[in-house]
Amino acid sequence: MTTDLPQLRCSDVVVTFRQKQARTVIHAVKSASLDVGAGEIVGLVGESGSGKSTLARAVVGLQRIDSGTITFEGKAFGARRSRADRRGIQMVFQDPYGSLDPRMTIRGTLAEMLRRHTALRGEAIETRCRELMDMVRLPSSLLGSRPAGMSGGQRQRVAIARALSIEPRLLVADEPVAALDVSVQAGIVNLLSDLRDEVGLSILFISHDLSIVRTLCDRVNVIYRGEIVEERPCAELFADPRDDYTRTLLSAIPRLGGPRTEGLRDGQSLSR
Ligand code: ADP
Ligand code: MG
Repeated sequence: MTTDLPQLRCSDVVVTFRQKQARTVIHAVKSASLDVGAGEIVGLVGESGSGKSTLARAVVGLQRIDSGTITFEGKAFGARRSRADRRGIQMVFQDPYGSLDPRMTIRGTLAEMLRRHTALRGEAIETRCRELMDMVRLPSSLLGSRPAGMSGGQRQRVAIARALSIEPRLLVADEPVAALDVSVQAGIVNLLSDLRDEVGLSILFISHDLSIVRTLCDRVNVIYRGEIVEERPCAELFADPRDDYTRTLLSAIPRLGGPRTEGLRDGQSLSR
């Protein structure tokens, strides 16, 4: 039986990129294993280029894997996922502006998802659009706006509403606050935390910033050069990091408990 499995299990996932001309092979993800339990918020942290996005894309089915298995709700995904398989896991990206159609109103964006993926029609679509705006704490008056007329934080809320529109059980959030002003980051982090409590959403939260992970996640996976080097409950990891690389990452947070700091910036490199 599969009942003892966590909601998501990645086992020994390997992703390589072959560059034909240069004849080089990039080992983006090397035998990575991680679990996300139902209703759990799990962090995946590591410096830029460590394989976070590649693993995230593999989880949602946007990236083919060389080997290993990805099991969701007891079912191992094959090379091709059914529509129902894809619905269960949704993703939000770092740049909400790039992931929203600039020509469409927010109503249009949400309604398109609902028409394509649900049986809702007519007035029920409008009702659901308003419900989704409530869920992400945006006023329904913004349904007629286009992305260009909104702030970065509002756009990321819309991207989250769109992801939620088809009622996924797991949300993969790939650096969802990295492109936002520090002043609005906490609002998005709090929203994700509330969504877990309100709708039981599980979240795989990806960040290069350990100070954000600390406030949100139950457990943390530290990834270094495509390998998960440490996996611990959040409080334990911060109190007693075991891996050298984790310690280096932690030391990049200037003062824990002090004023809000930026942590490790994307693109900044650390050596082990
Ligand atoms: P992160 O999200 O942690 O910054 P990525 O998963 O984006 O890391 O990248 C991991 C490694 O894989 C990097 O060396 C990156 O250059 C490489 N990579 C990612 N996507 C591709 C691709 N489509 N083709 C070739 N190399 C890639
Ligand atoms: Mg990335």
